[in-house]
Amino acid sequence: MHQLTLAEIARGLADKKFSSEELTKTLLARIAQLDPQLNSFITLTEDLALEQAKAADARRANGETGALLGAPIAHKDLFCTQGVRTSCGSKMLDNFKAPYDATVVAKLAAAGAVSLGKTNMDEFAMGSANESSYYGAVKNPWNLEHVPGGSSGGSAAAVAARLLPAATGTDTGGSIRQPAALTNLTGLKPTYGRVSRWGMIAYASSLDQGGPLARTAEDCAILLQGMAGFDPQDSTSIDEPVPDFSANLNGSLKGLRIGVPSEFFSEGLDPRIAELVHNSIKELEKLGAVIKTISLPNMQHAIPAYYVIAPAEASSNLSRFDGVRFGHRCEDPKDLTDLYKRSRAEGFGPEVQRRILVGAYALSAGYYDAYYLQAQKIRRLIKNDFMAAFNEVDIILGPTTPNPAWKIGAKNSDPVSAYLEDVYTITANLAGLPGLSMPAGFVDGLPVGVQLLAPYFQEGRLLNVAHQYQLNTDWHTRSPAGF
Ligand code: GLN
Repeated sequence: MHQLTLAEIARGLADKKFSSEELTKTLLARIAQLDPQLNSFITLTEDLALEQAKAADARRANGETGALLGAPIAHKDLFCTQGVRTSCGSKMLDNFKAPYDATVVAKLAAAGAVSLGKTNMDEFAMGSANESSYYGAVKNPWNLEHVPGGSSGGSAAAVAARLLPAATGTDTGGSIRQPAALTNLTGLKPTYGRVSRWGMIAYASSLDQGGPLARTAEDCAILLQGMAGFDPQDSTSIDEPVPDFSANLNGSLKGLRIGVPSEFFSEGLDPRIAELVHNSIKELEKLGAVIKTISLPNMQHAIPAYYVIAPAEASSNLSRFDGVRFGHRCEDPKDLTDLYKRSRAEGFGPEVQRRILVGAYALSAGYYDAYYLQAQKIRRLIKNDFMAAFNEVDIILGPTTPNPAWKIGAKNSDPVSAYLEDVYTITANLAGLPGLSMPAGFVDGLPVGVQLLAPYFQEGRLLNVAHQYQLNTDWHTRSPAGF
């Protein structure tokens, strides 16, 4: 039963082959048995899950239908869940039980999804390896000595290991697409504003976006359908109609113009990944797509711009965790300053502290113009590059990451080398565009992803292309040995 996709589960439940309660019990047992190897969950909510599963079975017995009704999922542990710990992977929020549900959580619960628990993540979503969590590193099911990618690494490892069919993630600079690539999943970062950020603990508010991680594009369509939509409680949510993603997966790719940016095949790219990307291009050509080389000339500035803007917003967002309004409080403070200082020094790990310092520096009176404002200008240039490209092509294609999953600990002494792993993903966040990563082969037994980018609100086009690709390839069906 654990091999089933969301689409297959929906059919099985509709045909009464099994109940949501049976499925939920099977998966909870599997998690208890296998997750100690992976560390992909921070909190399991067994009782709540069984309650939700029984309620979903009752709704189906009453004639209700729906692709998510009774489907087991899990939430990255930065989506607020009422009465359940929402830790953000941090000691700072180790004892925080959210008093309300995030919009994404509430919407999926209303659609009948069964939440099994909260998944591990890099602390405050800062990282590309899921090593910065207060709850320990997550392991990649494809090779337990390697990272699963981050920051949604718990969601990715759990889905890749068939502990559950799909999970939510968030993507500020690649944190859905990059772990999807490194664990052989399909992951989609929607257009900025497509999915509500209300109740999604902020890292960098102008870049953060929630989205689905699953094994297939078909399943991403199902989960995204349950997450997307206008939310008056999020001032950056966009009131744009949500299409029926599942109904639009079968469009023909004949004549689809795919742009391949030369900058995506830069020096740092593992040549074996480049080859797999070229193979995926050939596959799409066979399906009728037309390939064109394009240029995104400002891409080289993306990493420096992102690593100014994201820390700047983080330093502002994280100021609320001061031991008074939110978060861990130190023992026996001498005075208020001591309370702030020690609470924050004890509550935040080293990567989060590094980002807060960088961000506060970039925003300070003397350096605001030199760093923050410059970075915002670069951001506009990057967006303009994409707009120009999308005048000529329907979709952009390239690698998701320059390298396959690295060994746990390999980049610990050099944070910048980890930042460089985001080179192909962060441009979409800077421009607010939707992006998807899909499985495209293996290097040394480790999965490799291909990334697709589309114009604003064209998530449906990404899912359509990925689904057609998946009908003609079988990379996404491979599962890691031992899981
Ligand atoms: N790796 C990037 C960072 O550390 C992106 C993280 C994310 O998308 N949440 O900022």
